[in-house]
Amino acid sequence: MRLAQRVEELPAYLFAEISRKIAEKRTQGVDVISFAIGDPDLPTPEHIIDALAEAARDPANHRYPESEGLPELREAMSRWYKRRFSVELDPQREILPLIGSKEGIGHIALCFIEPGDVALVPDPGYPVYAVGTVLAGGEPYYLPLTEENEFLPDLDAVPEQIARGAKTLWLNYPNNPTGAVADLEFFERAVAFARRYDIAILHDGPYSEVAFDGYRPPSLLQADGARETGIEFHSLSKTYNMTGWRIGLAAGNTTVIDALMRVKSNLDSGIPQAIQRMAIAALEGPQDCIEEHNRIYQRRRDRLAAALTKMGLRIRPPRASLYIWARVPEGTTSVQFATRLLDEAGVVVTPGIGYGPSGEGYVRLSLTIPDERLEEGVRRMESLRL
Ligand SMILES: *Cc1c(COP(=O)(O)O)cnc(C)c1O
Repeated sequence: MRLAQRVEELPAYLFAEISRKIAEKRTQGVDVISFAIGDPDLPTPEHIIDALAEAARDPANHRYPESEGLPELREAMSRWYKRRFSVELDPQREILPLIGSKEGIGHIALCFIEPGDVALVPDPGYPVYAVGTVLAGGEPYYLPLTEENEFLPDLDAVPEQIARGAKTLWLNYPNNPTGAVADLEFFERAVAFARRYDIAILHDGPYSEVAFDGYRPPSLLQADGARETGIEFHSLSKTYNMTGWRIGLAAGNTTVIDALMRVKSNLDSGIPQAIQRMAIAALEGPQDCIEEHNRIYQRRRDRLAAALTKMGLRIRPPRASLYIWARVPEGTTSVQFATRLLDEAGVVVTPGIGYGPSGEGYVRLSLTIPDERLEEGVRRMESLRL
């Protein structure tokens, strides 16, 4: 048989590679501590699981769901946007539930990208933006996120010819992997750019609720004119420790929502209904779990930031997201540094290069690791002589 070239060209998924390395060390008897993966270690809150358990027993939820999701779910999502961001969304036309936001992020390229088309993609960035583009036959054009520019893309630096040809602009704030945040003014500049060149903005915002020191990240949809130019992806994964249940959403421009809905209804049969019921409970139920989780992450952030600084690494403690983006010592690559930490301390971090060429020179550490493991990992790193 002959596989398609697009499969051959897929990059090895970064985390698959890391998992393989960890497994190898563990077989050698090393007690590996992983700061590599952004997946909340705390369980899904009890009241949300109760809703799932109850819904699982209802035969109405045993059959095919509708692709577009339960009306009650779309309404709950719309109410959530209203409460959280004061943004009014029509639950029928401006909201689409997803089987985890990654699913929609991957599929949206099929709505815009034809062979040879360009997507503007942040570098470093969540790998799915570029991979979705490539699978659809397009080409990512990387927008470097640099420390000097607060890890925001410099839209004025995009060459005129590229901007004119680009179909989509990917943004992600609070940012993975850099931990950077964007204010409403940045989103407004991005909207103006997108309108000037007739580009769709695709904003990925799964960390809007994971924030510290009282900071509240904005939504793209709060920016003037955002709804005319794009959509925002959101997810219950990080907000409610629900990565295992797979549910997210897209919200905003009706043309984009409709296009994504049409693609998806031809490919999938929606989100298991018991999980939709569970999501309604999460969105409409008590929200104090968010504060509680953020206090835990904030404490871990402070502990880890202090340790990395003591090691001589340059970092900026993040105001949101689950990550610390640390500058590796001069003269070392991100892979060399990560390999050293694994070999000498049994600690796994993600090399920045895995997120794009501008990620070189950095490693990412995640805060989703139980306190006692974090403490042990920190002790081991602090005792290293760099
Ligand atoms: C975790 C993450 C997602 C994926 O979330 P799911 O809804 O679980 O698919 C999307 N984008 C970024 C940047 C993430 O870090």
